[in-house]
Amino acid sequence: MTTGTVVGGGPNGLAAAITLAQAGVDVTLLEASKTVGGGVRSYEGIVPGLIHDHCAAIHPMAVGSPFLVGLDLERHGLRWLSAELDCVHPLDSGDAGVLHRSVEDTAAGMGVDGAVWRALFASSVAHFDDLTEDIMGPLLRFPHHPFRMARFGAPTVLPAAVVARAFRTPTARALWGGIAAHTFRPLDQPLTSAIGLGIGAAGHRYGWQVAEGGSGSIIAALETTLVELGGAVETGVRIDRAEQLPDADVTLFDLDPRSVARILGDRLPRRAARGLERFRYGPGAFKVDFAVDGGVPWTNPDAHRAGTVHLGGEFAEVAANERAIHVGRMPERPFVLVGQQYLADPTRSVGDIHPVWSYAHVPNGYAGDATEAIITQIERFAPGFRDRIVGTSVCSTAEMPHYNSNFVGGDINTGAKDPVQLVFGPRVTLEPYSLGIAGMYICSAATPPGPAAHGMCGANAAQRALKALRR
Ligand SMILES: Cc1cc2nc3c(=O)[nH]c(=O)nc-3n(C[C@H](O)[C@H](O)[C@H](O)COP(=O)(O)OP(=O)(O)OC[C@H]3O[C@@H](n4cnc5c(N)ncnc54)[C@H](O)[C@@H]3O)c2cc1C
Repeated sequence: MTTGTVVGGGPNGLAAAITLAQAGVDVTLLEASKTVGGGVRSYEGIVPGLIHDHCAAIHPMAVGSPFLVGLDLERHGLRWLSAELDCVHPLDSGDAGVLHRSVEDTAAGMGVDGAVWRALFASSVAHFDDLTEDIMGPLLRFPHHPFRMARFGAPTVLPAAVVARAFRTPTARALWGGIAAHTFRPLDQPLTSAIGLGIGAAGHRYGWQVAEGGSGSIIAALETTLVELGGAVETGVRIDRAEQLPDADVTLFDLDPRSVARILGDRLPRRAARGLERFRYGPGAFKVDFAVDGGVPWTNPDAHRAGTVHLGGEFAEVAANERAIHVGRMPERPFVLVGQQYLADPTRSVGDIHPVWSYAHVPNGYAGDATEAIITQIERFAPGFRDRIVGTSVCSTAEMPHYNSNFVGGDINTGAKDPVQLVFGPRVTLEPYSLGIAGMYICSAATPPGPAAHGMCGANAAQRALKALRR
C-alpha cells in the first residue's frame, strides 16, 4: 500500500492528508502541538463559556473553497453563519464605508462611488465559481477561463493606492484601503490590489462568514473526515530533522519554507534549498481577545451590525501605517481589525458578555506590547470601550511563533506577498509545491493560492503528489 506522511496539521496539512487518504494512501499526519488546527483553532477563556478564535475568524475564502465544499463538512457539524453586514470601516467623522454581501447593496450605499465598486467587483462576482478554478491554484498556468481571468486579473496588478484614486468619497476609499491592507504590503506597490480584489470578490459571492461554535469547528470536521477515511493523526510530534521522518512514498510539509529547508538540509537540491532559505516574511500581527460587557459602543450605527470592523481612519492613514510596519517602524495608531463573530453566532457569548477578536498590523518580530494601541484605536471609534472590558487575552507578535512556528515574527500570511512570492510561491519555479526531491512537497499557505482556511494549498499539493505517483 502506498504510504504518506504529512508534517503539520493546519487546514492545509489536513487537506493534504484527506486528499491522499481519499486516493487510498495510508497516511499519517504529524502535528507538533497537542491538537491539530494551526491558525484555525478556537478556545474557551477569559470568562468561562466565552468562545474566541485564536487566529482565523472570518472565512470569505473557505466557504466556497472547492476542496471544503466537496467534503460536505456539514455532515460533521460545520455550519456557516453571517452577521447582518460583512465589514464596516468607520471614520472620525462618524461616517463609515459599509460592505454588504451584495455588490449592488454596497454600490448603492456609496453614492457617486457606486459605479467604481460595481466596475471592480460585479463581473468577477457573477462568474466567481468559474474563476475559483483559476485563482485557487498556481497562477502560472494556462487558465481554464482565460477571458474571465484576464478581466479579473487586469486590476490586480495595480497598486491599491492607484485603485483608491478612482473613488471620490473618503468612506469608499477607506473601505477599499482596509480590504486591500490584508496584503500587509505598502499600498503604493504593484499587485497590492490582488488580495483585496480576491477577498472582496469571494466575500461578495459567499459572505464574510464565521463557523458556528468557533473556527475550530472547521478543523474538527476535517479531522473527523480524515479519521473516517482511515488516516492517522499523531499530535505532540515536532519534526526538526529529516531523520525523524517516517519512511513514506510521499511526504508533504504544511510548514513555512525556511523550516522545510532546515529539516531537509543537504537532502535538498542546491537550487531548491537556496530558494527556500531566501524566502521573505511579511510584517506581523499582534493579537488581543477581549471579553466585553454589552459589546463595543461604536459611534457609527452600522458597526454594531458588522462581523468585521476595520480601524485605521482614511485611506492615506492606512497606507502610511502599512508602509511604516513594512520598514520596521511601529505606528502610533496601527491598522486594527476587530471581529464580532458573536453577532452571527450568539452561542459564543455568555449572557451580555461578548468575545471580541482583534489584531493590529505591526512590524515583523515586534517586541513591544500593542495592547494599549489597539484599545486606543477602538476607543477612537467607540468611546467608552475601555470601561466595558471584562478581561483580555494577548498573543504578542513575539509569542505567536511559539504558538505556531509557521507564523515567523508574527507573519500570519506565511510569507510576504510581494510580487515574486505572490506569483510564484515559496521559490521561483513553475512547480510551487515541489521541493525538487521525488515524493516531497510543501503544502502550507506559503504556496498558491496562499493564506486562509480554504485548504486549497494542501489539496493542490497532494494532487500533484498523487499525479507523480501514478507516472
Ligand atoms: C491572528 C490571525 C488572524 C487570522 N485571521 C484569518 C481570518 O480571519 N481568515 C482566514 O482565512 N485566515 C486568517 N488567518 C490566516 C490563517 O490562520 C492561515 O492562513 C492558515 O491557518 C494557514 O494554514 P496552514 O495549514 O498553511 O498552516 P498553519 O495553520 O500555520 O498550520 C501549520 C501547523 O504545523 C504545525 N507545525 C509547525 N512546525 C511543525 C513541525 N516542525 N513539526 C510538526 N508540526 C509543525 C503547527 O503547529 C501548525 O499546527 C489568520 C491568522 C492569524 C495568526
